[in-house]
Amino acid sequence: MVRPGPSRVRVRVEGIVQGVGFRPFVHALAREYDLAGFVGNDTGGVFVEVEGDGDHLSAFVTDLSQRAPTLAQVERVTTEAVPRTGQPGFAIVTSVTGAAREALISPDTATCPDCLADVADPTDRRHGYPFTNCTNCGPRFTIVTDVPYDRRATTMADFPFCADCAAEYTDPGDRRFHAEPVCCPACGPALRLVDADGVPAVGDPVDVAVRWLRDGRILAVKGLGGYHLATRADDERAVSALRARKRREEKPFAVMAADLRAARALVHLTPAAVRVLTGARRPVVLLPRRAHAPVAASVAPDNRDLGVMLPYTPLHHLLIGRLGMPIVLTSGNTSDEPIAHRDDDVRQRLARIADAYLFHDRRIHVRTDDSVVRVFRGRELPVRRSRGYVPAPVTVPWRFDRPVLACGAALKNTFCVAKGRRAFVSHHIGDLENYETLCAFTEGIEHFSRLFDVRPEIVAHDLHPEYLSTKYALQRDDVELVGVQHHHAHVASCLADNGERGPVIGVAFDGLGFGPDGTLWGGELLVADLIGFERVGHLGAIPMPGGVAAIREPWRMAVAYLDEIYGDAVPDLEVLRRHERRWPVMVALARSGTNSPRTSSAGRLFDAVSAILGLRDRVTYEGQAAIALEQLAHRDERGGYRVEPAGTAPLADVGRELVRCVVDDLVSGVDPGRIAARFHHGLADAVVRAAEAVRERTGLASVALSGGVFQNVLLLDRVVGGLEAEGFRVLVHSRVPPNDGGISLGQAVVAAARHRGTPSS
Ligand SMILES: [Zn+2]
Ligand SMILES: [Zn+2]
Repeated sequence: MVRPGPSRVRVRVEGIVQGVGFRPFVHALAREYDLAGFVGNDTGGVFVEVEGDGDHLSAFVTDLSQRAPTLAQVERVTTEAVPRTGQPGFAIVTSVTGAAREALISPDTATCPDCLADVADPTDRRHGYPFTNCTNCGPRFTIVTDVPYDRRATTMADFPFCADCAAEYTDPGDRRFHAEPVCCPACGPALRLVDADGVPAVGDPVDVAVRWLRDGRILAVKGLGGYHLATRADDERAVSALRARKRREEKPFAVMAADLRAARALVHLTPAAVRVLTGARRPVVLLPRRAHAPVAASVAPDNRDLGVMLPYTPLHHLLIGRLGMPIVLTSGNTSDEPIAHRDDDVRQRLARIADAYLFHDRRIHVRTDDSVVRVFRGRELPVRRSRGYVPAPVTVPWRFDRPVLACGAALKNTFCVAKGRRAFVSHHIGDLENYETLCAFTEGIEHFSRLFDVRPEIVAHDLHPEYLSTKYALQRDDVELVGVQHHHAHVASCLADNGERGPVIGVAFDGLGFGPDGTLWGGELLVADLIGFERVGHLGAIPMPGGVAAIREPWRMAVAYLDEIYGDAVPDLEVLRRHERRWPVMVALARSGTNSPRTSSAGRLFDAVSAILGLRDRVTYEGQAAIALEQLAHRDERGGYRVEPAGTAPLADVGRELVRCVVDDLVSGVDPGRIAARFHHGLADAVVRAAEAVRERTGLASVALSGGVFQNVLLLDRVVGGLEAEGFRVLVHSRVPPNDGGISLGQAVVAAARHRGTPSS
């Protein structure tokens, strides 16, 4: 690209290249290769001109992406030869602002080793300072109020630099050169600890907070994206008090461990898990817990996994370092409300939960929850994509010709704005069921549209008329509306996650989604590309007695399945005895069809089996019965129920036949752990055979797996393994969640592809 001999090139670098130390890096690199010229930021990213020896220029351009700073994500480097000027020296020039904005904002990032060393060094002016950061680490997305990204457009605008910080900020040789949130004890935010009555604690806030934690108190601690509730993880009394006060009955709590060694005492770690756990994004990682892990039983009741994360702010490091033991760190809210993030209402919102509050005076502009991932075959399998990941775009190898907004689903909502080759999937908004989450949703859309300069011309939405996200879409004026079927969106999100367009065989297994025929889908076999889909198979539809009540009470699904299979001759099972009194009413309800819509949902099949095995008759959070079933399954069981494929309707009989096998084994006294494993294996094998039937008919040999049910790694592993053994290429999620948190991405790519009218270029 660059010829030998002295010459000059103009270079453009696109991606996450601002606020991450890219200009000082370029400056140092130019010196290393003895090149003259300049570097600066503009609305499109970073611009560079360099002049000097041709070989050096080539090496310089290569290194721009290969040796980029930790937080940079270089998407594209383009070069153009320009006339030489002969001007000596290399300079960092003033940023250029303009109308079109292409520059990206980095996600919030875990404290880097250099900053940790500063905090630990008694001679450093930031010794013990909980807000230490630099160009390689610290808050970003959660403090950005506007664009272009500089200090004035962050909540750090409240804190004018002291002379020392100003000197670091303006010195290209300094690690804090143009680190917008840079600060120190003299000029930056400060901690404040108060008890439940608002009385300030006497002494160092961190020391007192540590003492109170050690005593088993529950502290509200202001973090990056919101308030956490913290208490020591080994104290059953404290953890069960936290559960009771939060009104969170069973959903597992995450635990923060001081470091890898402390994490290793809690869970089993693979090299891939270590990579994710210690990476700059610091999600909660769900990992198999050790038999004698020193955590209270109430942290994750009846769960063989534990959600673990490592500290990601200096405050976490200080608290846990001094406490010397893991803490429960869970979102600061009551049951399903959004996480508290504002100082003015936190004491009211957490009044019945927290014994004390550890405040600081840096405002949180965007509320973001901790991200949650599993690790599958060495890669991340996102469960909740939020803090640390957002707003890094999901890039795709085609263009969104017109700006798109996709509104997502109802539960685990995210939205997505897209233009060019980038889809900006939002932080986790939550379940769009109350006014506060709806506000977070609409305000979030405004914020993203401004930050990324996307004025949507196409607005995509789910087909469900009652979703608040659908209603929001329908109210938008002057846009082209595109309705996207829920499970098509799932499969499309998996395609986009993998940078592909299809067509593929898509397996979308989840709780529920609105079908174009007006029934509730959820165990779907599709042939799909980004534009459209054909429903080539699905689990046989079963009534949901009482409608949504059947979601909260999985035993109702057991009634429905058992009635479909056995009619009036249901075997004498525990589940029947437990619900003897209401059983006939439920059977009548199911048969009448009154308030009992039929569904092909895979999630409801898991519910039925879970209830039949006596695991869950009622659930307190989505997916709980299915998780219990996955947890119960014996890992050494190799057998699986064999369901013969039903000719032209693959999957149609699978649910009923699997339940029949479960009942047979249960009646013969087989251990429920083995039954759970055989059920998983049987369902997975049925999926593989269904895919084979579709391949025979269509010639398609790629399969995309999506939907919340595929968060179940026992099922996922068996399906992927089975498909690969049969010669399929398998696409799974690694950038967005397979659950409804990934729906908005799928909607966005479908809407764009439909508008374009071809499977895109
Ligand atoms: Zn740092
Ligand atoms: Zn300062």
